[in-house]
Amino acid sequence: MKIRNQGKGIQKKIIALTFDDGPSDTITPQVLETLKANKIKATFFLMGVNMKPRPELVKQIIREGHAVGAHTYTHSRHPDEYVAEEEIRNWDTLFHDITRRTTRLFRPPFGNLKSAYSKAALKAGYPLILWTNTGADTARHINAEKVYTAVMEQLHPGDIVLLHDSMDKQHTAKALPRIIQTLKEKGYAFVTVPEMLKEWDAFQSQEHGKSSETPAKHSKHLSP
Ligand SMILES: [Zn+2]
Repeated sequence: MKIRNQGKGIQKKIIALTFDDGPSDTITPQVLETLKANKIKATFFLMGVNMKPRPELVKQIIREGHAVGAHTYTHSRHPDEYVAEEEIRNWDTLFHDITRRTTRLFRPPFGNLKSAYSKAALKAGYPLILWTNTGADTARHINAEKVYTAVMEQLHPGDIVLLHDSMDKQHTAKALPRIIQTLKEKGYAFVTVPEMLKEWDAFQSQEHGKSSETPAKHSKHLSP
C-alpha cells in the first residue's frame, strides 16, 4: 500500500506521535525534552529549509532514537512537477549530508495526496504517510487545552497523531506533557511511524486471514 492512512480497528493500545514542519529553535528542543523525560520515541517530518540552518537539532533527533520522515524542502502550496522532484532530491541529499542516513517516509504538505510533491514522492519510492488523529494545532485561536482535547476526542488504538513543532507552536509544546500523561494512564505504549506501519500490516493481514472479505476500512482521511 502506498498511501498509509488506515489503521483503525487495532485493539493493541499503541500510538505514534508525529511532529511536522520543524526543526525549530523554539519548539523542537522543548518537544525533545518532554519525549526524553518520558522515555518516548516519536517521528519528525522535517522541512529542508528548517534542517539546513539547524543540523545539530537534526542530529539530536536521530541520536535520541526518533524516526524522521521527509516533509519537502519548502512546503509550497502549489509546486510544479519539476520543482517537486527537485525538492525531493534536495531533501534526501541534505538529510544524508547531515545524518549519513536515508529515510523511507514522506508526509505531503497539507495532507494533499494529489499534489506534485505526492506524485514525485511516490515516483521516488516513498509511501505517503498521513495521520488518523490531529491536535489541530495549526488552527486559529488554538491553545494547549484545545490541542489536548482534540487528540483525546479522536483517540483510538493504533493512531498516528499529527502535531507540529514549527516555531510558533508553543501551545503544542505546552499540551504535550499532558497528552503523554493521559495516554500513559490509559495504558498506551508509544511507537514510531515505521513501528506503527508494521503493526498495521500485521493487524490487516491477521484480519484478512479471518475472513475472505476485504478488511473493513475503519479510518477516514482527516484534513489538516
Ligand atoms: Zn506541514
